[in-house]
Amino acid sequence: MIVVQKYGGTSVADTERIVRVAERVAQAKEAGHDVVVIVSAMGKTTDSLLRQAHEVSSVPPGRELDMLLTAGERISMALLAMAIHEQGLTARSFTGSQAGIITDSVHGKARILDITPGRITEALTGGHVVIVAGFQGVSRDSKDITTLGRGGSDTTAVALAAALRAEVCEIYTDVDGVYTADPRIVPNARRLDRLSHEEMLELAACGTKVLMVRSVEYARNHNVNVHVRSSFSYNDGTWVGAKEDTMEQAMISGVAHDSGEGKVVVRRVPDKPGVAARIFTALADAQINIDMIVQNVSADGTTDISFTLPLADGPRALQLLRGLSDEVGISDIVLDEQVGKVSLIGAGMKTHPGVAAAMFEALSEAGVNIEMISTSTIRISVVVRQQDVEIAVRAIHERFGLGADEKEPEA
Ligand code: ADP
Ligand code: ASP
Ligand code: MG
Repeated sequence: MIVVQKYGGTSVADTERIVRVAERVAQAKEAGHDVVVIVSAMGKTTDSLLRQAHEVSSVPPGRELDMLLTAGERISMALLAMAIHEQGLTARSFTGSQAGIITDSVHGKARILDITPGRITEALTGGHVVIVAGFQGVSRDSKDITTLGRGGSDTTAVALAAALRAEVCEIYTDVDGVYTADPRIVPNARRLDRLSHEEMLELAACGTKVLMVRSVEYARNHNVNVHVRSSFSYNDGTWVGAKEDTMEQAMISGVAHDSGEGKVVVRRVPDKPGVAARIFTALADAQINIDMIVQNVSADGTTDISFTLPLADGPRALQLLRGLSDEVGISDIVLDEQVGKVSLIGAGMKTHPGVAAAMFEALSEAGVNIEMISTSTIRISVVVRQQDVEIAVRAIHERFGLGADEKEPEA
């Protein structure tokens, strides 16, 4: 039986912790499992490598940036392999490329196209613990090394669990599961025992970074059971996807927030067919993911279009839109970086009217102004000032009685 375990940055932050991980891996191996371990870079290594890249280059070339960032995971994989040897077991570490993680060529956010895990299964058959560097792969076309985007080790873990038909994909992190809100912001947030893939997908897409959104997408598409738990304890954590059909659905799963988005306002564009298509096709062609879009009511034949996007893509989007100004007839473009998004997520919302009203009321009582709104069947999101994000999360969490010491009100 194969078990996949992924250890995030804080779980391998120093050599002492790596030794503890090695002990934990040895226990799983001794319990009779074939163990495949995915590691992240130690602590904040990826952040400091990124900083160094920007110290020597204003726009680091994608190929070289990926070459640099993937070095972080190579350090932790080799150290963990050594620590496992010290436990009297044998271990083989593999880079993403050696592990057969085949991706497209989009540096910085490559997608996995295929997994050819021949060397992994061979090493498992030989009785070794297998360690794989997370967050990286190799491009099928260019043969260059790629990265899967921040938090990408989660995706490596789920993709390998699917390819190897593992029993479970365990995600070890610094919290003991998925909570009703970020426990750093809401101290009385409650740990959720179970979540469906859909609920976790919405939470992750709205900024709950305990799992990378692509990893949840992958888990849903390949029906992988994911167990999010703490590397510092042996408690059960949160099961994502397990026994989905028999699950009783809570009305609300939680409150997510995302301070990593910016808002672009495109002012006074002609209110005629084709304008939005031109703008958003250009952004899509540049691989910029747009989130919320709002178009104002037209006045004197022109209208404003606002949308949100990842902050990191802001400058590129501005440059692109300025290039379109004359062709489309844009008068002005503004990028507002001081915004944040707060979302309420719950599968039970579909059948409960009044959820949005209660959420807006909570925000109004907390004095938080709403700038944009978007909804899906199981989510309501608002854009607010960045300084209001934490206030908003707490107000909504409290209004829906999500705390460990509170009872969900009848809606
Ligand atoms: P790792 O380095 O192990 O991948 P991450 O930092 O990516 O860990 O994710 C874990 C962090 O996610 C937690 O420390 C926590 O602050 C944050 N987080 C945000 N929202 C939630 C939530 N709803 N439940 C649990 N953790 C959350
Ligand atoms: N080290 C990478 C990051 O910090 C990938 C990961 O940890 O999942 O984003
Ligand atoms: Mg992570």
